[in-house]
Amino acid sequence: MTMPGFPQPSNRPARILGLFAHPDDEVFCMGGTIAKLTDAGAVGRIVSLTRGEAGQIRDVTAASRRTLGEVRERELAAAAAALGVADTRCLDLADGTLAAQPIDDLVETAVDIIDEFEPDTVISFGPDGGYGHPDHMTVSTIATAAAQHSRSRPITLHAAFPRSRQLLLSLIVEWLEDLDDRFRGSEEFATGLMLFANGSSMLGYAADHLDVRFYPAGTYIIEQGEPPGELFLVLSGNVDIVAEATDGSLTTLASAGPGSFVGEDGIARGQPRNAHVVAVDGVTCFVLSPGAVSLSAGRGSTSEVETFLVDQPGDTPGSDWIEVDVRAQATQKARALACHRSQYALRGDMFPRSMVEGLFGVEYFVQARGEGRGKPVSPDEPSTGA
Ligand SMILES: [Zn+2]
Repeated sequence: MTMPGFPQPSNRPARILGLFAHPDDEVFCMGGTIAKLTDAGAVGRIVSLTRGEAGQIRDVTAASRRTLGEVRERELAAAAAALGVADTRCLDLADGTLAAQPIDDLVETAVDIIDEFEPDTVISFGPDGGYGHPDHMTVSTIATAAAQHSRSRPITLHAAFPRSRQLLLSLIVEWLEDLDDRFRGSEEFATGLMLFANGSSMLGYAADHLDVRFYPAGTYIIEQGEPPGELFLVLSGNVDIVAEATDGSLTTLASAGPGSFVGEDGIARGQPRNAHVVAVDGVTCFVLSPGAVSLSAGRGSTSEVETFLVDQPGDTPGSDWIEVDVRAQATQKARALACHRSQYALRGDMFPRSMVEGLFGVEYFVQARGEGRGKPVSPDEPSTGA
């Protein structure tokens, strides 16, 4: 199988090197693509310049501050294996300090890595580092320069993250509406969803605004008649779902507790809320919103629902972007993400396939300019001896 944008030598399997700053960068940047390529016979290697020891710890059972570096090194090996890559390395350059280290030394290190593996393609972050992380921006510079200075001159692809208009909340609502019974997730599900939503929105896979809100006992979480927009996942406490008749009489339709979603029906129907949701005790909710929400939106049957669901500004991928359809690998990508247990406390099968495919189904790359086999180095490259 040949894939546009990825060189395939005629005499041997293609070799792909992922060069990143931290364990877990590989999943977001190229998880589906590397799985697709290795499935077709390519040989992959993933190198992280740091062990990610400065990262947050999302699960106290997974690591402590002292063990995080070694744990993440093992997590990288497991995640890579889930993507069909048996060969991983973690260098021990201090996490969080790459931008402050001598760039020439870093490039030299990366040149050695490339010369040893002789990849046809090197994949790393683009100059924006995905979302501006200094380590990511530095590894982008290093990988690109090292590929130019290496013997085999592989092409360098930068992972690109166009800001999607896709809303995670829409994917969740579609899924909930398809279920026969009311969904009730575990605490693990709620934590996993929050981390997943955060990661997805940070890299632009999803456009939702995320929030955690507290509602004291006896307050409205949703008011009947208001336009739909937000989706609530109850994290703690209990709620009553109460319908108010035209004469003002109230009927409790249902109760819900931690792990339950509320608000999905109104969103699915595109209709004003048909019941109140009231906090019975102190209630904490994870709230997904479709972008900027107008607080002055009218209540009652004449509410302008359409204006409430604000259209998201999305990016259009450039014409030179390489677009890889990885819908078939999306579940594999979610499983690889779950291997990074210390960072994403989730299980690979926690979310429905439709949701994972909707978010993870396409990966984009841009070829770094002015390099690659047989292509001239860019003119602004300093001449030798300078
Ligand atoms: Zn990273």
